[in-house]
Amino acid sequence: MAGLLVMPELRIDPIIGRRVYIAEDRAGRPSDYGIHEATGRVAPVGESSPKAHPNCPFCAGNEIHTPVASATVADGAGRWQIRVVPNKYPAFRLDEVQDGAFGVHEVIIESPEHLLDVTQLGPTRLVEVVRMYRDRLRHWAAQPGLRHGLVFKNSGCDAGASLEHIHSQVTALPYVLPTVQLELDAAGRFYAAHQQCIFCDLIESELAVNQRIVSDHQGYVTLCPIAPRQPYEMWLLPRMHQSRFDLLTDAEVEELAGALQETLSRLQTAEPGCPYNLLLHTAPFDDAHAAAYHWHWEIVPRIAHEAGLEWGGGVHICPLSPEKAATRLLTAKKN
Ligand SMILES: [Zn+2]
Ligand SMILES: [Zn+2]
Ligand SMILES: [Zn+2]
Repeated sequence: MAGLLVMPELRIDPIIGRRVYIAEDRAGRPSDYGIHEATGRVAPVGESSPKAHPNCPFCAGNEIHTPVASATVADGAGRWQIRVVPNKYPAFRLDEVQDGAFGVHEVIIESPEHLLDVTQLGPTRLVEVVRMYRDRLRHWAAQPGLRHGLVFKNSGCDAGASLEHIHSQVTALPYVLPTVQLELDAAGRFYAAHQQCIFCDLIESELAVNQRIVSDHQGYVTLCPIAPRQPYEMWLLPRMHQSRFDLLTDAEVEELAGALQETLSRLQTAEPGCPYNLLLHTAPFDDAHAAAYHWHWEIVPRIAHEAGLEWGGGVHICPLSPEKAATRLLTAKKN
């Protein structure tokens, strides 16, 4: 079948209308994505080690290289397991009212050991990390002048990470983040027309069609969106309607950590070493009209290069269909 041209297919995201062309004629095998065939990794990555790396500011023992912690989680022996510090190179600051760069930018160091992948923490420790995400958003939601928070993880240097030691970032800003505003507007319009949440509607129809579901248990659904920006893009959503992530109960946090562990493990099994961004989309802290919004995680691998069409036009080309991605993720054995 060499030389057979597969026609690209236009997909439109049902929430914000993003246009994506699925163009699979060059796809299929992982090596088509530029992944090193011998190692299966996108870029050389060092091995994890429980020993402190002398030059890693996030390793236990090197705390002097980061600002004083604003929050920590300790183990039974009083050693820190999770450490939250203000970003040493912040994009925004709480005391920066003058030039408008007002906001919060902090780093959550997710382990004292030099681990490279958050799934290496195991389910119990991941619960603590997810609880810290919730607690930092709760903390900032209570501060005056801040309207919206974003938790995100850049995993791998192709996803923008400058340090490999597992960490995430929290920002809180005095306005609603534009990407979430698009989703809020769409959710508001859909609710006005149908008296239903657009995301609940999406979950229902995706479960009925059952071609893009990656997992569905313990109150959370992971699916490959119908118009993905990247191969293996996934959305993880609570099955029950919830607008704000920071209002999760401890029991919900525990179930969510299990779902997140499974989802990220499947990605790492399907595409070992795959760089990705993990993005939390949640309703603004103060918006009574956001009840129609449905919080979710977006897991966006950084495999296909984003170039002129994406940056200049907001139109994406994805070399792997979400149906094939879901099948591969489903069959990827859990770690
Ligand atoms: Zn380290
Ligand atoms: Zn909903
Ligand atoms: Zn979103």
